[in-house]
Amino acid sequence: MNAAAERVVAIDGPGGVGKTTVSRGVARALGYQSLDTGAFYRAAALLMRFHRVDPEDEAAVLAVLSGADLDYRDGAMLVEGVDVSTAIRSESITAASSRLARLPGLRLVLVRRQRAWVAARGHRAVVEGRDIGTVVFPDARVKIYLDAPPAVRARRRTGETSTTFREVATQLGRRDRLDSTRATSPLAPAQDAVAIDTRALTADQVIARVLELCRGRGIDPANRPPEGSYRARD
Ligand code: C5P
Repeated sequence: MNAAAERVVAIDGPGGVGKTTVSRGVARALGYQSLDTGAFYRAAALLMRFHRVDPEDEAAVLAVLSGADLDYRDGAMLVEGVDVSTAIRSESITAASSRLARLPGLRLVLVRRQRAWVAARGHRAVVEGRDIGTVVFPDARVKIYLDAPPAVRARRRTGETSTTFREVATQLGRRDRLDSTRATSPLAPAQDAVAIDTRALTADQVIARVLELCRGRGIDPANRPPEGSYRARD
C-alpha cells in the first residue's frame, strides 16, 4: 500500500466520454493538479513520427523514448520543451497513439513518468486515462469509471476537428477495440471503481458526483492545502 498514492483521484474511461473536462473541474475544486495521461501516449506517437520510427519496432521505439524530454504543464503537453498540445490531437496521431499503446515496454516507461509527475506534486492529482485505477495508481482511494454509449461519445467529439460524425464514430470504435482488447493494461474498470454513466448528465453534474464521492472518502475541498504548498516541480 502506498499511503500517499491514496490521495490520487483516478478517472478512467473510453475516448470522448469527458474525462478531461471532468478531471480539470474536479482538480480545480480540490486544489489538485490534473494529469491527462493520454497526452503522453499521443506525444510518444508524435515523437515516433518525427524520428520515422516503425511503431512495431519496440526496441527502436524505446531507444527514442528513453532519451526524450516529456512534460505536462498547466494542461499543455511539452516535448523537448515545445508545446505539442495541438499537434497531438490530429487524427493520424490519435490513431497512432492507440497502436503504440499496445507495446508493454513503452507503457512501462510512460507509467514510470506519470507516477513521477504525480509524486512531484505530493500525489495531490486527478489522473485520467485507461489504466489509472488498475495499474498506475491501484491504491487510489477514489476510482471513477466514466462511460457512455459510442454514439453519444462520437457526438460529443464531432466538431472538435473537421471530421464528420461518421468518421469520428468509426475512429472511436477502432480505438475502443484496440484499447479494450490489448494484452497489457487493457481499458477496463478497476474492481473497486465507481461507474458513472454520463450519457444524460452535464459535465457539471458529473463533477459534482465525483466531488461527492471524494468527500465520502476523505478527500475534501475544505482540506485543500494552502495555494502553492504542493506545487514543487520535478
Ligand atoms: O485519452 P486519449 O484519447 O487522449 O488517449 C489516446 C490513446 O492513448 C488511447 O486511445 C489509448 O490507446 C492510449 N492511452 C492508454 N492508457 C492511458 C491513456 C491513454 O493506453 N492511460
